[in-house]
Amino acid sequence: MTNFIDLGLSAPILKALQGEGYVTPTPIQAKAIPTVMTGRDLLGIAQTGTGKTAAFALPIIHRLAANKRSAMHKGCRVLVLSPTRELATQIAESFRTYGRHVGLTVAVVFGGVGHVPQVKTLSRGVDVLVATPGRLMDHLKGKSLNLAGTEIFVLDEADQMLDLGFLPSIRRIVAHLSKNRQNLFFSATMPPEIGKLAEELLHDPARVAVAPAATTVERVA
Ligand code: AMP
Repeated sequence: MTNFIDLGLSAPILKALQGEGYVTPTPIQAKAIPTVMTGRDLLGIAQTGTGKTAAFALPIIHRLAANKRSAMHKGCRVLVLSPTRELATQIAESFRTYGRHVGLTVAVVFGGVGHVPQVKTLSRGVDVLVATPGRLMDHLKGKSLNLAGTEIFVLDEADQMLDLGFLPSIRRIVAHLSKNRQNLFFSATMPPEIGKLAEELLHDPARVAVAPAATTVERVA
């Protein structure tokens, strides 16, 4: 059986996991964490409830801490796109929790709330930015955000993005990113449009697929 120490995560991260009471990595965590830590692109087929948020957040925090530097003015080191504000908020919360002994700056940006406070937060630059596509495009158009220095890009729930009509925005956002980045791509299902997007975005990705967690099935039932 694998544990979090065997995965090679650094001591401040292990301490945060201990604080959360996590003992055993979930299957997607055991498979994804060592790969993402090497800097390789990842295609993850997994639903919510499988532990996929930690599967990308933990190795990302490890990489940021292993190579400490300040985010660019108006920039971020990591960009996570999420289809909904609820999920964006949860992802940002997970980065704060797992990164609490590392000293990360985390910001979340979505529509339906004031624009100006977000502009102010972005102006300093942040390590991790979690955003919904529509409001992120607004910040790019308004020049309150510059993605040229982003080192890692995460697209979460890609199939939901398709259902919500976000694919054109995602392609426009990706055009602002540096070519020299790591890409992590997650989707519960792989309709052809999403397969095409994954092919455009990912370079020689590792593929990890996990069955839905029992809790998800129970929730549906
Ligand atoms: P997610 O699939 O990312 O939405 O995570 C589902 C839930 O599982 C969240 O509430 C996490 O806090 C929790 N979780 C994730 N990984 C672990 C783990 N290895 N051990 C215990 N709980 C976990």
